[in-house]
Amino acid sequence: MARTTSTKGRCYICKKELGKGAMKTHLLKCNNLGEGKTNYFMIKVEGFYNKDYWLYIQVKESATLSDLDSFLRDIWLECCGHLSAFKIGDALYEDNIDDSNFGLFRREVKDMSKTKLKDVFSIGRVFKHDYDFGSTTTLKLEVVAQYSGIATKDKVTLLARNNMQEYTCEKCGEKATYIAMGSEWSDYTPLCEKCMEEYDDEECYVMNITNSPRMGVCGYSGENDIYQLD
Ligand SMILES: [Zn+2]
Ligand SMILES: [Zn+2]
Ligand SMILES: [Zn+2]
Repeated sequence: MARTTSTKGRCYICKKELGKGAMKTHLLKCNNLGEGKTNYFMIKVEGFYNKDYWLYIQVKESATLSDLDSFLRDIWLECCGHLSAFKIGDALYEDNIDDSNFGLFRREVKDMSKTKLKDVFSIGRVFKHDYDFGSTTTLKLEVVAQYSGIATKDKVTLLARNNMQEYTCEKCGEKATYIAMGSEWSDYTPLCEKCMEEYDDEECYVMNITNSPRMGVCGYSGENDIYQLD
């Protein structure tokens, strides 16, 4: 199985390659926003069960949890419009709050579109995000820095991201773009576009290779992930 394992990633400002921990220190220097009155949080995002997937993002303090949710859906999560929620401290924050959601075991649910980050975030705060309450993808988020500077155009800016894992086509050795999966996780065949067309194993489940902790789950194909460097 030709697979390069690396948790390194690249800074989206200067393209430097660094490990996850060193990246935070680097970003605090590299991301120079100068003098300004706009307040930001820097947030580290990781796959809860696979920390090889990671991001550093910068979010305006005045943004809402829905703005953050939209960004996470675009870069890593969206497949078919499932529900999502943030769990911060003892509270749950969801979109489209519906009274019928309140069950015996549900804690209080708040509206993420009405919750500003500055009301729930502080340095060191660690919290979770769940996408899809059936085949759930869980993310771990941590507020790692807080600073001010000039106003950026977007509410959420991607500062750094783990490198995409590269797979080699098992048939021809070219770069693979698909994985054909058998019934077990360990039974998988990376394939390039051309070899995929010729591959006939109808028992297989075929998925796009993506740079996301939701790879292979439900109908996830990474089509909204426009955040590739180069
Ligand atoms: Zn940099
Ligand atoms: Zn889905
Ligand atoms: Zn091939």
